[in-house]
Amino acid sequence: MRLMPPDDPPLAHAIESYLSSRPRMARWLEWVAGRRYRLAAFPDRPRPVVVVAHRYRDPARAEQIAHAIEHDWAETPPPCRDAYAEILDQAPGLIVIQLRRKNVCGCLGHRHVVVKEAPFSEPHDAFGDAAVGEMDIAFDRVESWLALPLTDTALDTQFIAGSRLKEFREQQLRFRLLSVLLHEAHHMVAPQAPEDEVRERSLTFYREALANYVEIARATMSFTIDRSFSRLGKE
Ligand SMILES: [Zn+2]
Repeated sequence: MRLMPPDDPPLAHAIESYLSSRPRMARWLEWVAGRRYRLAAFPDRPRPVVVVAHRYRDPARAEQIAHAIEHDWAETPPPCRDAYAEILDQAPGLIVIQLRRKNVCGCLGHRHVVVKEAPFSEPHDAFGDAAVGEMDIAFDRVESWLALPLTDTALDTQFIAGSRLKEFREQQLRFRLLSVLLHEAHHMVAPQAPEDEVRERSLTFYREALANYVEIARATMSFTIDRSFSRLGKE
């Protein structure tokens, strides 16, 4: 089973080998219990490596998070990524994301003080000098979250008219997932930072990443666009 593209960082390979070299019985029990892992790495940095821990029924959700890290991150404008360079440099080298559908408390995500995911809760040679951190992300909450109510709704209207709403919604969701991941990584690195400051930075990331996507999408759409969209765009 290949979990990673070939050009991925050494730590990702070490984790992949570690997971598949564990005793057969442990892996079998984990499989039967419905636990699955999807590794993901940022294309432009060796760390952090992310493990999306999820249930057997949620591979499509795990895939969206992985896609956001492996592809959408690189599509964001440089200032978006620069704003998190230092945070990602200082973050644990290995980040475990517990993928949930919802949280009882209604939050989008939390950082965990203790790593609970079994294969990563004890130190192991495979991790090298990488620290391990853990967070959870409530996927369905993130999906229904109105991050920027006015902007999100206004953009929806434009894309409905442009008949690319589905593609837009998926892209929007992956930027939200990235912003939640970055938000929690920020908390991990700076536990004392006030929530306002942490939230402002992650919302700015989301706003600018989305604005950039919309700008590019509109430029390419204008050639094939239907008239209803052109009219709406000018109003
Ligand atoms: Zn927060």
